[in-house]
Amino acid sequence: MLSTLRNILNRLSHNGIRPDTEESQVTRIILLNRILLITIALLTALSIKGLFEWGWTEVFLYGVTLLTLFIFLLVRWSHFKTAIGLFHGIYPLLLCLIGIGFGSELGVEYCLFALLCSVLILNEGKNSKLLFLCWFALLYVSMNVGFRYVEAPFAYRIDYTDRIVLFMISAIILTLFVMTFLRENRKYYKELQKVTGRLKDKNEELNVANRDLEQFAAITSHDLKTPLRSIASFAGLIKRDLDRGSTENTGEYLEFVTSAAKQMNFLISDILEYSKLGKGKVEKVNLSLSDIIMSIIRRMDDIIKKENVQVIMTDLPEIQANETQIQLLFQNLLENGIKYNRSEKKVIQIHAQSKPEYHIITIRDNGIGIAEHYHDQIFGMFKRLHAGDKFQGTGIGLAICQRIIDNHSGSISLDSEPGKGSTFYIRLPRLQLGKKEAAPEKIRNGIFS
Ligand code: ADP
Repeated sequence: MLSTLRNILNRLSHNGIRPDTEESQVTRIILLNRILLITIALLTALSIKGLFEWGWTEVFLYGVTLLTLFIFLLVRWSHFKTAIGLFHGIYPLLLCLIGIGFGSELGVEYCLFALLCSVLILNEGKNSKLLFLCWFALLYVSMNVGFRYVEAPFAYRIDYTDRIVLFMISAIILTLFVMTFLRENRKYYKELQKVTGRLKDKNEELNVANRDLEQFAAITSHDLKTPLRSIASFAGLIKRDLDRGSTENTGEYLEFVTSAAKQMNFLISDILEYSKLGKGKVEKVNLSLSDIIMSIIRRMDDIIKKENVQVIMTDLPEIQANETQIQLLFQNLLENGIKYNRSEKKVIQIHAQSKPEYHIITIRDNGIGIAEHYHDQIFGMFKRLHAGDKFQGTGIGLAICQRIIDNHSGSISLDSEPGKGSTFYIRLPRLQLGKKEAAPEKIRNGIFS
């Protein structure tokens, strides 16, 4: 019974709200509907009471009840602005007339004050707010002048109960206004905070995207053009030789062309790989780091055998990360540890230390090492420390690693000296992920070569 009543009231409060109604209007329409409903209920009660004492006051009451119903219908037909205009234009006038007619004892000032609050909440535009406020001020002054100089013609008919009822109406409406105003304000403030936060994030993303775009522009003009230039110039040399009828150097020139084309192919693949990584949130699951390293070692089996590599892993934990990205990260680091290494026996050690809030994973190689002043630079896009004929590469591998680490809210750093090998430190935060995603941890320690 109570829930049915609540349902009906709820439906009536949502009178005139359609799926396409603006969010900012919804609270206003609900508030106006509630005021109208309370007014209709009270006016009807007073009108019923008046059925037994027929007179001009009752006719007036029926008239106001009908007017309130009409405004309610205007809201239903989506004439929201007209409804508010009528509500704020006619009600205060009626109140003023009631005040003058029934004398100051009636306490209509409360009602007028309640209506005044509604002007602030229900009207959106500054101009309409100001207009209605002036209208209210004018009526308030006229009413008070009326109290003083006009002898209230109906004053004798006002009894104590009516006064209480009128006071109740204004008290309820006033409370409703204040509550809605505070709620709307809170909602608005929260929404504003959310939007500002989102804007800040988007702005930061845009800045990063812009910086990336600049870097991309730099590579197209430089790194991609370098192999293209060699292709063009060697093709030109081949043509010149062919015109002269000489093919002596053609084989050698063609090799340069092929190698430049290959370099361009690597570059394009790496740029694609990098751009596919995206920025921001990635789906993370529980992963066994040793399983990840094992699968990379299996994939790199050929090169590991050919280059006489030994991979040693100890104490590898379960981490919370994106599987595809973490595979790419360790594959890049392993490949670099092998590539930039001239030792007879290439040894790569992977070790981890787990703290309550994060893991530190260490990848150490016995390669050529990196001078200290390059430590920060090598994580930038297209930063290479060696010419292509010494070590082939694109300079994107570590930038990919950096982006993956950023996507995991971690950090990557390096400790290295030329000729003494390099140690990369990865710090990954530990997250609480659902147990069902946990992968069984099979291998924690092992040596693979
Ligand atoms: P790429 O290997 O394609 O050139 P990276 O971004 O992976 O690009 O590496 C950038 C540079 O950092 C490399 O050119 C190399 O000089 C240096 N580097 C990376 N890893 C190592 C390592 N393990 N040992 C020595 N130098 C390294």
